[in-house]
Amino acid sequence: MFPKFDFLIVGAGFSGLVLAERIINVTGKTCLVVEKRDHIGGNSMDEYDEHGVLIHKYGPHYFRSNSQEVIEYLSQFTEWRPVEYKVRSHTRDKYWKFPVNLETFEQYLGRESTTEEFEQWLEDNKVPIENPKNSEEVIISQVGWELYELFFKGYTLKQWKRHPRDLDASVCGRIPIRTNRDGRYLREEFQALPKAGYQTLFKNIVKACGDKLKIMLKTDYREILDTIEYDTMFYTGPVDAYFDFCYGDLPYRSLTFEHEHFDADQLKAREPISGKVGFYQPEMQVNYPNDHDYTRIVEVKHATGQACTNSTIVKEYPADYVRGEEAYYPVPNDESKEIYRKYKALADAEPNVHFVGRLAIYKYLNMDQCILMALRAFERTVKKTEQSCNEPVEA
Ligand code: FAD
Ligand code: UDP
Repeated sequence: MFPKFDFLIVGAGFSGLVLAERIINVTGKTCLVVEKRDHIGGNSMDEYDEHGVLIHKYGPHYFRSNSQEVIEYLSQFTEWRPVEYKVRSHTRDKYWKFPVNLETFEQYLGRESTTEEFEQWLEDNKVPIENPKNSEEVIISQVGWELYELFFKGYTLKQWKRHPRDLDASVCGRIPIRTNRDGRYLREEFQALPKAGYQTLFKNIVKACGDKLKIMLKTDYREILDTIEYDTMFYTGPVDAYFDFCYGDLPYRSLTFEHEHFDADQLKAREPISGKVGFYQPEMQVNYPNDHDYTRIVEVKHATGQACTNSTIVKEYPADYVRGEEAYYPVPNDESKEIYRKYKALADAEPNVHFVGRLAIYKYLNMDQCILMALRAFERTVKKTEQSCNEPVEA
């Protein structure tokens, strides 16, 4: 006799754990979550490094959302620490205010200015394009060539190893452009981090599931398929891997992370640059569009508010994706959409398997969008409608 579960869930990131929690607490059914890494939380996990500094292990994860449903759902498992995510762009030996706003324009002019003057400047410089088709057009149609070349072109080439012209408008279109002094990096209304960190939030979700949830870490689900029984699978891993790459590899972009730690004395020497006691750099994230092999340096202590005299920074180096390693970013462009379209047809036809999450539907989704997708996928499963679960939802 093999152990029997109602649901097999592949992946213990936000998508997998939210599904497990809903299934167990609403229907009382059992779930086995299988995760190939040695921890829960997927890419959103955080941890204290060996120096006691809280870091985001897989790149900075700034929680933001316009979805009241998602915020209320997560608030069952965490309190929040409101954060205004602040970023600078370092180029031409200067820390520029970023995303582009009135204060960036003032740095560019070297004097004070007004919204009216900046709007007029943009009017004179932007390239008239009615429906921007790619990431170059979406930026030049808002700010013109000069600011595009200063802040966007080099960063995008480095990050994606593709020209901005060869990426959907949604990629660079994520970054707001403002003519006032609002310097927040993100647009969403709710911007906050889990007060006690993401890992505590994930542990609280698991705790709420009680003994109807079993989690197997360090296990590829394929290794155990012959040793268990289940009725329905939710799959949150890469969709091309599920189908043995039968239509070839979907393109992904990968990253490597380089951590550097600084003690209080070293940070003291950085004060003329950071302008703050106990920090390496002036804001939580500094982007490097035109210099260095890394795209950004993240010092997440600015956002977590951790009270410690030391700090850890993480340099992010874009990397080619190698099959089987971590697939961080789906590549949003026409070529990848074409390949995904074929996998999606297979996914829709797969009996008793639902594909949910950033890698399973091959879409550059933020955490709140994945959570909403998991909530919706659960509702459809419970209500046993015939509707497909494999569609993204806007958060
Ligand atoms: P994941 O977190 O990727 O979880 C999927 C899990 O499935 C993984 O743990 C994986 O190990 C496991 N898995 C895969 N295949 C198998 C298998 N065969 N067997 C067993 N387990 C398997 N979002 C934001 O909202 N704000 C941000 O600031 C932000 N920053 C980001 C920065 C980076 C560098 C990256 C890469 C993403 C960022 N995101 C951000 C997006 C966020 O990471 C995702 O929205 C979220 O992690 C998606 O959750 P998920 O559960 O769908 O996928
Ligand atoms: N981008 C850029 N310059 C920057 C920051 C971002 O050109 O200083 C572009 C780049 O193509 C990047 C995209 O905008 O991939 C989205 O940026 P975001 O910071 O949202 O990326 P993520 O945090 O998802 O890696």
